[in-house]
Amino acid sequence: MIFKEIIDRGHEQVSYFHDPTLGLKGIVAIHNTVLGPALGGCRMWNYKSEKDALIDVLRLSKGMTYKAAIAGLNLGGGKAVIIGDPKVDKSEELFRSFGRFIEGLGGRYITAEDVGTSIKDMDHVRMETKYVTGISKSLGGSGDPSLLTSFGTYLGIKASVKFKYKKDSLDGLSIVVQGLGSVGMELVKYLSQDGMKIFAYDIDADRLNLAKKEYGVIPIGENEVYDQDVDIYAPCALGATINDETIPKLKCNIIAGAANNVLKNPDKHAKELLHRGILYAPDYAINAGGLINVYNELDDYNRERAFSQAEAIYDILMDIFYKSDKENIPTTIASDRKAEERINKIASLKSFYLPNRRKAVLKDR
Ligand code: NAD
Repeated sequence: MIFKEIIDRGHEQVSYFHDPTLGLKGIVAIHNTVLGPALGGCRMWNYKSEKDALIDVLRLSKGMTYKAAIAGLNLGGGKAVIIGDPKVDKSEELFRSFGRFIEGLGGRYITAEDVGTSIKDMDHVRMETKYVTGISKSLGGSGDPSLLTSFGTYLGIKASVKFKYKKDSLDGLSIVVQGLGSVGMELVKYLSQDGMKIFAYDIDADRLNLAKKEYGVIPIGENEVYDQDVDIYAPCALGATINDETIPKLKCNIIAGAANNVLKNPDKHAKELLHRGILYAPDYAINAGGLINVYNELDDYNRERAFSQAEAIYDILMDIFYKSDKENIPTTIASDRKAEERINKIASLKSFYLPNRRKAVLKDR
């Protein structure tokens, strides 16, 4: 049964780990390492079953392969899950034990924080292995990745506007930002500086008031998010917001935001957006700034270099849009194909032996 799941999704390796003393149980999935070591966060979740944990780690690790490939990074795709309740089961020894397991993989997988894990947990992992990112600044980490995610999302919105409206400026255009958390609030800052008319909604009234006060956003209600008459909808809160119920309501011409898994049913809903002439910036391409940030941690983190690398998101999205337009395929498929093309081309590069090749990705930390 497990091999079928692995083969169907094209994974290289799936490792189960168990520490009997701590009751630690987890899975690391390495999807593809053609471009480099598999990097992806460690999710801690009270999964209902081991099968649910396996499917989640397989799905998420495959997504990381595409995200790294489209962003032009020398990284493969991987992910880890720890089965447990993050509110009660966390401890220093648990994450150190996890770190020892990661060390045992010899650098084929590099972990990071994710849902249910924190910088502090990654600091504990760091005590046992160097194959971890998203650690504290004092230990050589890069700090909050959401600043780079916001910057990349802002550039992705600019690229979308350039493609759809042939305009270089956002001035005078309107947007709905859904979610004013770490990414959404910073994004609103960029957009307000560019003269956009910004409508926003957050379930947290304090965040909404803060955005109104600081950046002049116009608060709207939960039910006004999808049918607002605006140019752009920027999902920055949760996934699956584009679905059978919301698509008929949309009046926007562009969907471009930082949230993961925006399309509830990617195949179906991407086609519907194409059919309706709504330009969709694929989530894993527009929100790659956070991954670019941790990638830079692998080689003496430098914030300026990370920001300058994230500027590529503009051109990456333009290329995806042109391909989608030329081949009349959804932007999601254009993006997947571009990522696969890069992996295949780089794989063919490695067809001959090169002596003394410098380690291009991971410096000895
Ligand atoms: P966050 O938790 O800091 O903020 C989320 C915000 O959304 C909160 O203010 C919350 O109150 C609000 N919210 C929750 N439910 C809502 C709803 N139904 N309607 C409106 N607002 C709602 O998260 P974040 O780090 O800002 O990330 C935002 C999204 O971007 C998430 O989907 C995340 O997976 C994705 N993302 C984030 C990063 C990153 O670097 N932080 C990277 C890639 C993708």
